[in-house]
Amino acid sequence: MTISQLHPVFVDQYGGLRSDDRERVDPAVDAWVDLDAAEIAVADLLVALGQDLDTEDLRETPRRVATALAELLTPQPFSMTTFANDEGYDELVVVRDIAFHSLCAHHLLPFIGVAHVAYVPGERIVGLSKLARVVEHFARRPQLQERLTRQVADALEGELTPRGVGVAMEATHLCMSLRGVCVDGARTRTTAVRGVVRDDPATRSEFSTLVGAP
Ligand SMILES: [Zn+2]
Repeated sequence: MTISQLHPVFVDQYGGLRSDDRERVDPAVDAWVDLDAAEIAVADLLVALGQDLDTEDLRETPRRVATALAELLTPQPFSMTTFANDEGYDELVVVRDIAFHSLCAHHLLPFIGVAHVAYVPGERIVGLSKLARVVEHFARRPQLQERLTRQVADALEGELTPRGVGVAMEATHLCMSLRGVCVDGARTRTTAVRGVVRDDPATRSEFSTLVGAP
């Protein structure tokens, strides 16, 4: 087998986010996607599961599955654009209902939901779209919802040094609704709070109200 297609994966500490305008082209590229090997492995898996690959439907499926999984498991590089908080804004900034999807690390089945991301600025503020990009960045890998929630909070705390951060996520896990206990419609909620969002009761209460927490 020849390794004809190699795609870099940008490996990071907590995402390798940068606080300046540089494109996040991390020199520490030490993981690769080998699509040819993945295609062979998917074919082997389907055959082992009793599937006949010599049908029109399934003939190209191993390649398609390998490509789809590579896309879902490869974080996209991006830069964290921040600006000086010249006007001294010191209230909660909340972006609600950021749709996201990820793959559960235990079954590689999707979990799908929304994230609400909030922070109280310190000396820097961040472009609002970047809050959604942070969620997407950490979602593109085998994940646990708890870890994803925490990683988004940690990344914002590390990059912005804000006075506080709050992240709430609510998602449906297909590994719960399609298999095992087959609980349909159950939604899992996770939160991560830092700084004044955690320690100041009024700010914490405001965060909970804004993101619709009980
Ligand atoms: Zn699972």
